[in-house]
Amino acid sequence: MKRYRIALVPGDGIGKEVAPAGKRVLEALAEPGSDCAFDFEEFPWGADFYRQHGVMMPEDGLDALKAKDAILFGSAGDPAIPDHITLWGLRLKICQGLDQYANVRPARILPGIDAPLKRCCAEDLDWVIVRENTEGEYAGAGGRVHRGFPLEVAADMSVMTRTGVERIQRFAFRLAAGRPRKRLTVVTKSNAQRHAMVMWDEIAAEVAREFPDVEWDKEMVDAMTARMVSRPASLDTIVATNLHADILSDLAAALAGSLGMAPTANLNPERVYPSMFEPIHGSAFDIMGKGIANPIGTFWSLVLMLEHLGEAEAARRLMHAIEQVTANPKLHTRDLGGAATTSEVTEAVCARVRAAAKKSVATA
Ligand code: NAD
Ligand code: MN
Repeated sequence: MKRYRIALVPGDGIGKEVAPAGKRVLEALAEPGSDCAFDFEEFPWGADFYRQHGVMMPEDGLDALKAKDAILFGSAGDPAIPDHITLWGLRLKICQGLDQYANVRPARILPGIDAPLKRCCAEDLDWVIVRENTEGEYAGAGGRVHRGFPLEVAADMSVMTRTGVERIQRFAFRLAAGRPRKRLTVVTKSNAQRHAMVMWDEIAAEVAREFPDVEWDKEMVDAMTARMVSRPASLDTIVATNLHADILSDLAAALAGSLGMAPTANLNPERVYPSMFEPIHGSAFDIMGKGIANPIGTFWSLVLMLEHLGEAEAARRLMHAIEQVTANPKLHTRDLGGAATTSEVTEAVCARVRAAAKKSVATA
């Protein structure tokens, strides 16, 4: 039996509701019949920690995470604290500090979901968006001087390195090569941004030569939004910069049903550091504390975690349980037009995971 050390970082808002729900699902997966188990350590970082200590997480927090096999993250963001402080102080600190440079975001319409795309387009979608996760527009380079004076200057500089671009392009081409359609779309904006994005295009073309099996094309980010809506089946694997993929993946999530369902993996592919798994949504101030957050994005993120840990059977079992639950409209939360609560959906997924385990024990 394999035991995994999991760091639980619920963070703020509905993160505090969906991350514990995720823990319950992992516990259900680890019950008899399973060949993996999980030891959890919870880290109470986030806005409450900030109010007490003036920082979102302790200085040596990354060291504690480095000792884990994987991290389950909720969300960062609080109505009373500026968003750039909560985001940079926790999520970006972890992603950059643990060199989680590949952010992987699958999007697909799960059974039973009345997705907007189904209403406007005859085609289905099955995408994986790869987002550069450590540099680019969110490198943090820039500054602000002469505050409050008419000559105040503020600049956010997008910084791309050859190493950073090359490794994310190679990751995306390799991922595309492993998917049935072997198709990659490289998102760019090299018509208007004439330095870094031009290098981005050049490196994509260089890396493409290593993957002759992959059919690839290039799309400007603005045209990409239209293509996602009007010709979704023409896309499969997608690679984009930090900012572009941030935006495109929220669009993908909404087209597939709800922001509350979309999962993400922040990977350190070389496995020098642990990777982090989280729903793509934020703290959702409008519904926090009500117990109605959709936990499916968190559960699907756990599927990505299990796949990353090499637990393919457990990953399949969990994904199957999730799909059985989404197929039942009585188990839809409010964002999907239903009335189910976070805990009802969680219990339903746990029950199906346990039932599948019993069946596999019985047939073994
Ligand atoms: P959000 O994702 O929190 O919410 C956007 C909308 O989607 C809201 O109407 C919300 O109710 C709904 N929604 C999101 N997740 C849902 C779920 N699981 N179930 C049901 N409905 C859901 O985005 P926002 O409003 O732009 O940001 C709120 C805060 O979260 C900000 O502080 C922001 O910086 C932060 N944020 C953090 C992360 C992160 O930690 N990874 C990501 C995005 C936003
Ligand atoms: Mn985002």
